[in-house]
Amino acid sequence: MRFRSLTELKRPELREVTLDSLPQSIAMDRYAHRKAFGIGEMVLDVHGESLEWYGFTLGTVERPDFITDIGLPHNDLNLQVYAGLSAERIAAFQESLPEGVVINGWIHSHGALMLKDFSHTDERNHEVVLDFVSATLKKPVAKREVAIRDLVFLVKDRFADEDLARGSVCIITDAPVREAVIMETVYGSFCHAIVVGDGGWHHQEIHTREYGVLSGHARTSHREAEVVLEDTGRAWSAADMEALREQVAGKISPNKNPPLETVERM
Ligand SMILES: [Zn+2]
Repeated sequence: MRFRSLTELKRPELREVTLDSLPQSIAMDRYAHRKAFGIGEMVLDVHGESLEWYGFTLGTVERPDFITDIGLPHNDLNLQVYAGLSAERIAAFQESLPEGVVINGWIHSHGALMLKDFSHTDERNHEVVLDFVSATLKKPVAKREVAIRDLVFLVKDRFADEDLARGSVCIITDAPVREAVIMETVYGSFCHAIVVGDGGWHHQEIHTREYGVLSGHARTSHREAEVVLEDTGRAWSAADMEALREQVAGKISPNKNPPLETVERM
């Protein structure tokens, strides 16, 4: 048998059907957007100086990609602990939330720092947050054909244990089968990552992960994303600002003795 070109030797394309998509931009309630910057203003007001802080972006089970609010956990500005956001801390915060509210990302401030982008430390935190939210935010995004070399078909009650020695995968059916296409579900999950700073600058990314249930094939990626503000009618009020004052006073405090090695961690 002769092939005219090497391309003819290529394996046939595997089938893939898209079922759903992961967010391309960050949809955010104006209320949450106002609150994100309100925290920084309140930090300045309460503590008289700009401080770095972190929080979680929140959504709902019904619409998990939409940021409806910002959750502020207790920030112990023991910087080394902060530098490593842990799954335990995220889980503890998730447990404190009302039913139906989910964490869909994280937000932090670089305060007055010059770095207007994510740092290496932030990159590690993206992974931890994505890992945590994946459990609740995953959804089927595709069905993808799995190529199985040396697939063996056997018929129920009509084979011996020795027959199982053949092939890489056996499919046992109730009637004889000669051909089958195996398609696995590809689950996708995402988390939002936002960094803000004094003067109102912000930078954000969406981090995604996809994995095939059968092949175990996993792929993570991230992209810069725009914030798309939406009005839900929930207005940011003076009472909200006062409530925020209490939260900021109780949950964020200056660290007078930051360990030297963490000074450049952001
Ligand atoms: Zn940072």
